[in-house]
Amino acid sequence: MRTVETFGQVRELVEGSVGLVPTMGFFHEGHLSLIAAARRSTETVVVSVFVNPLQFGGSPDLAAYPRDVERDAALARAAGADVLFVPEVDTMYREGSRTIVTVEGVADSMEGVHRPRHFSGVATVVAKLFAGVRPDVAYFGRKDAQQLAVVRTMAADLSFPVEIHGLPIVREQDGLALSSRNVHLANEDRAAALNLHRALFAVGDAFEAGERSLSTLLGRASATIDVGAGIDIDYIEIADASDASTVDRIEQPVFVAIAADIGGVHLIDNILLDPTTERADRGTYIDNSSILYGDS
Ligand code: AMP
Repeated sequence: MRTVETFGQVRELVEGSVGLVPTMGFFHEGHLSLIAAARRSTETVVVSVFVNPLQFGGSPDLAAYPRDVERDAALARAAGADVLFVPEVDTMYREGSRTIVTVEGVADSMEGVHRPRHFSGVATVVAKLFAGVRPDVAYFGRKDAQQLAVVRTMAADLSFPVEIHGLPIVREQDGLALSSRNVHLANEDRAAALNLHRALFAVGDAFEAGERSLSTLLGRASATIDVGAGIDIDYIEIADASDASTVDRIEQPVFVAIAADIGGVHLIDNILLDPTTERADRGTYIDNSSILYGDS
């Protein structure tokens, strides 16, 4: 595996079909599942690590975001990556850069309300990665369901010749969705964070038992949350899985999304409800303690 810093260097190294896994680094098993999927179906696997300032919109979260490129390089190599692309900010955004990609509508609800410029930052950087790396397939996690809808819409609208694959959410043994931000959770905050997937799973159970009323399903989520746990819920919403639009009834796959600030850490999670199979997709679990926490 080679670690490089420019699009030109990436393109010199790729051959055959190209799989791209865009990330902000500090890998956990969710990232590794995307790299493994790319390894299975494309000839050159490019993994990008870029903590994109544009999507943080001036938030202090940018400076606090965990980073360790050496650790990421070892994990990416072991997972089968061929190229690790780690651009500097001024390589990614040329001086005087003025072009921003905005995906209207898709980006205005849920996370878009909480973080107004977030999805323009995501759409812009992913468009740049598509233009610069020219992947045949790009791999994203369904953990960020709204982001996946933004990326799918952007790629189709801008005619990028890339297939977008969305992969299942990978969870820790206790059910918490893996996130690089989990390393910032103090013990009591982590216990509170378990409310998120429990609320979603309660909705999944009700859905699988035949419940289809949106208000009853959302009520089930709220009723499951331990109000004494000190969590500040931003939103619980149900949206169309393909474009994150609001739905009145569940006629095609939807996701139920939840977001909360817990001990100063912004966490999101979701569950996919498919009316065709009548199943809720809760994602997958890892068998051991996450690599996020070292060898302990
Ligand atoms: P990030 O580094 O957080 O920007 O995430 C990079 C990619 O990994 C995105 O496509 C995320 O959706 C995906 N991802 C993050 N967490 C998980 C998870 N727990 N399970 C599956 N994919 C994930």
